[in-house]
Amino acid sequence: ETPASSPPSDASKGVENLVIIGSGPAGYTAAIYAARANLKPVVFEGCQMGGVPGGQLMTTTEVENFPGFPDGITGPDLMDRMRKQAERWGAELYQEDVEFVNVKSSPFVIRSSDREVKCHSLIIATGATAKRLRLPREDEFWSRGISACAICDGASPLFKGQVLAVVGGGDVATEEAVYLTKYARHVHLLVRKDQLRASKAMQDRVLNNPNITVHFNTEAMDVVSNDKGQMSGVHLKRRDTGEESVLTVKGLFYGIGHTPNSQLLQGQIELDSAGYILVKEGSAKTSVDGVFAAGDVQDHEWRQAITAAGSGCIAALSVERYLVAND
Ligand code: FAD
Repeated sequence: ETPASSPPSDASKGVENLVIIGSGPAGYTAAIYAARANLKPVVFEGCQMGGVPGGQLMTTTEVENFPGFPDGITGPDLMDRMRKQAERWGAELYQEDVEFVNVKSSPFVIRSSDREVKCHSLIIATGATAKRLRLPREDEFWSRGISACAICDGASPLFKGQVLAVVGGGDVATEEAVYLTKYARHVHLLVRKDQLRASKAMQDRVLNNPNITVHFNTEAMDVVSNDKGQMSGVHLKRRDTGEESVLTVKGLFYGIGHTPNSQLLQGQIELDSAGYILVKEGSAKTSVDGVFAAGDVQDHEWRQAITAAGSGCIAALSVERYLVAND
């Protein structure tokens, strides 16, 4: 395959064709496509996650649903491969956080702690962060009993056939609870309030499911482990009576939502009420010409590695068209 013909770059005048912010599947896929189109993308990989690029999948073990890996692949290995592929085609990678963005006038200005870059186009692929409960032993059991993604982890041997708990009372938590009943022996839904916030349809599905027990007014306080150091339960507290107990479960799923990492663009491009970047349907176009968004930062619904990668591809191809049209 030959890379597509590219628009002339005036990088010599200090203006890059394209800056990509983010190093998850969306950012790296965009980088691979843009680099192969000779756009010489500059990628700010970010360093929030302990200085490690690669995004959310760096915090997981096996990824079993990314096509092309029939035996599964670890999250870090998958991201390392994507990174190498982007580098091989000439993407310029910086392990730095972007601290300031100005897309109100063109060329756009992107600034990290170490450099300032001007660019004609921008892809925002900064992802989203699963909200956490901040339980005292959360870090110890993250990915070893605690998960924020039922679709990703529900079928894993750690959880299959086990009794599990889901925290939350909205659509995300109820969807997760119903999904997990495919694999789990039983699912407990832990709801802080005295009612569910989920849609009526989801409430009915949960309340009428014999494999789900809903615990209202119930708060998860911490994870409990057995003498082998494995997760064995959740310490609960009733908010109405103050009564405390331990529920025996092998897994705890957070269904309390995500925070899109869109703060950099606040006030400059259109976001929805939850902070997700609004893109025109079926495209990566934001409300500002030349600014594109991909991955979880613009997707409150699917939030998968493959959908993030797919939207990164669309964003890069859109940039290519945009630059040619605006040359
Ligand atoms: P992310 O992966 O969130 O990456 C965003 C990137 O942007 C990060 O590198 C971050 O450092 C960077 N960034 C943010 N702000 C800045 C800034 N200011 N400057 C520079 N960089 C910045 N999906 C699956 O399909 N299969 C699975 O098995 C699976 N397992 C999962 C397990 C866990 C524990 C989690 C948390 C998620 C899992 N997912 C899984 C979901 C999947 O990880 C996400 O859907 C996917 O990573 C989203 O990709 P993204 O590129 O949009 O963003």
